[in-house]
Order: sequence, then C-alpha cells, then structure tokens
Amino acid sequence: MQNSSYIGRFAPTPSGYLHFGSLVAALASYLDARSVGGRWLLRMEDLDPPREAPGAQSAILQTLERYGLHWDGELVRQSDRHGEYEALLQRLFDQGLAYACTCSRKQLEGSGGIYPGHCRNAGHARHDAAIRLRVPELIYRFSDRVQGEYSQHLGREVGDFVIRRRDGLYAYQLAVVLDDAWQGINNVVRGADLLDSTPRQLYLQELLGFSQPRYLHVPLIIQPDGHKLGKSYRSPPLPGDQATALLIRALRALGQSAPDELADASAEELLAWSARQWNAALIPRTRNLAESQLR
Ligand code: GLU
Ligand code: ZN
Repeated sequence: MQNSSYIGRFAPTPSGYLHFGSLVAALASYLDARSVGGRWLLRMEDLDPPREAPGAQSAILQTLERYGLHWDGELVRQSDRHGEYEALLQRLFDQGLAYACTCSRKQLEGSGGIYPGHCRNAGHARHDAAIRLRVPELIYRFSDRVQGEYSQHLGREVGDFVIRRRDGLYAYQLAVVLDDAWQGINNVVRGADLLDSTPRQLYLQELLGFSQPRYLHVPLIIQPDGHKLGKSYRSPPLPGDQATALLIRALRALGQSAPDELADASAEELLAWSARQWNAALIPRTRNLAESQLR
C-alpha cells in the first residue's frame, strides 16, 4: 500500500490551542496520508499576529508530538512567506485580476457579506486600500470525499473577495492556495467549516495554473453549549497525559473502530494500528457533530 505520491498537511492557525475539534481534523489528515504511505506536512498559518495567542505555536507543536502526530520535513510558517504573497498580489493587481477597494465598513453594511462591487472599476491605487480578487459569474464545484458534491456560484454567493486587508494582512484564501501548491499538497483533509471556502480556492488554483488537490472535509465538533470548536473559540489545551484516550475518542468521531484493548497502547502504537484500519468511507457525512453524541 505504499504510495509515496500522496502529500497531505495539517495547517493550524495559532489563534488558540489545539482543541478536540482540531485533533479530529489533524488525526484524519494524518491517517489518510499514513494509510497509503504518504507524506504529512505541517504549516503554521500565522498570518494574523494580533489574533495570535501567546505561546500557541509552541503549545500546538508540543501537543502534536505528545499525541504521536509526527510530521515530515521542516515546519513551514506563513509569516516567513510574505515576500511570496506580495509578489503574487502585485502580479494579480498588475494583470487587473485584483483591484484596490477603499470601501468603509459602513459602505458595505446591508450587502449581506457579498461585495457589491463599488470599487471594481474605480482604478484606486493600492496604497491604504484592501485588495479584492475579481470573481467570475460562474459556478465552481467539486466532489468532496465525505461531504459529496459541493457547488457555489462565486459571483452571487461570495462576490469579489479580499486577498489582502487594508491593514496589510494577507488573506487566508490567497496564502493557502499558494502554499498548498508550493508544498506539493495533493490531498487536503480539514474541518467542514472550510467547505464554503473551497470554491474560492478552486478559482485561484485555476487562475494560477495549479492542479486541484482532492478534498475531504471532516465534521466539526459542536460542544454541548452549541459552541463550534472552531478558530474563534478559546478552549484549553488538550491534556498531554491523556493522548491515547482522546485519540480513541477522535477515532470514534471519525467513524473508525478503536477496540478497548488499545486503551493502554502508546499514542504511536494506536496511530500505527489505526493507519492500517483507516477507512475514510466511514466518516460521518455531516458538517457538524455534537460532542455529546460521541461515545
Ligand atoms: N488554518 C486553517 C484553520 O486553522 C486551516 C486551513 C486549511 O486547512 O486549509 O482552520
Ligand atoms: Zn470598495
């Protein structure tokens, strides 16, 4: 079952510690790669320093190590890649594929989050402006390995989207597409909160001549209080001394079996066993899973 052409990744944002939901996503992407002898890379998506929790980066790395989720190669940090993002942005701007937007928050009120296009043909200078990518009036679709067919009309449902904020921060959508291509990622496994970002990423890939990875979006874990375990929710770090128990819980959330005998195994032993049993077809086809429903 060796398939060295598979390259996957885990790409945490250090706005907080890893929580159970991110463990589920990390575990799925790890096992999907390892089950076919593929590579598994780690990329720190540290594009937004003001929203970065102090110590989160090192805590994330430590948790991954403790949980036996060992990555291949050097950790990539997006904060080291501003030069590449800037070069791409300038190219898109020069080619007229992106444009400067000076709209205030107030001007955008009432447009339901879809940019109404005020600055599309205004020819504003880049200085002190957000940069938006023009989107085509087209439907972008893909077949997710778990969630099935997904499609979105970019013009009507998303609108021209920001690829660099007015304050100079590069947007996730731009960085993720460039970095996935640069790192040779051909399989993206991540949380279902990013399902509706995927069509934007497909458009950028097409624009830049990149090949399209396969996608697998795993359910998000919802807490009893209805909180999504997502980026914005600050949760405590995963306990370092309960790796095996939490990995078993995460495996079950992913529909995989985990016999009770493995409760005494090390994280590494459990992961090696799970990689052999991994079956992505068993992952629940839902975008949200209540934590209380987990065994
Ligand atoms: N950095 C993103 C997050 O933490 C994940 C990006 C991705 O996997 O494409 O939610
Ligand atoms: Zn504008």
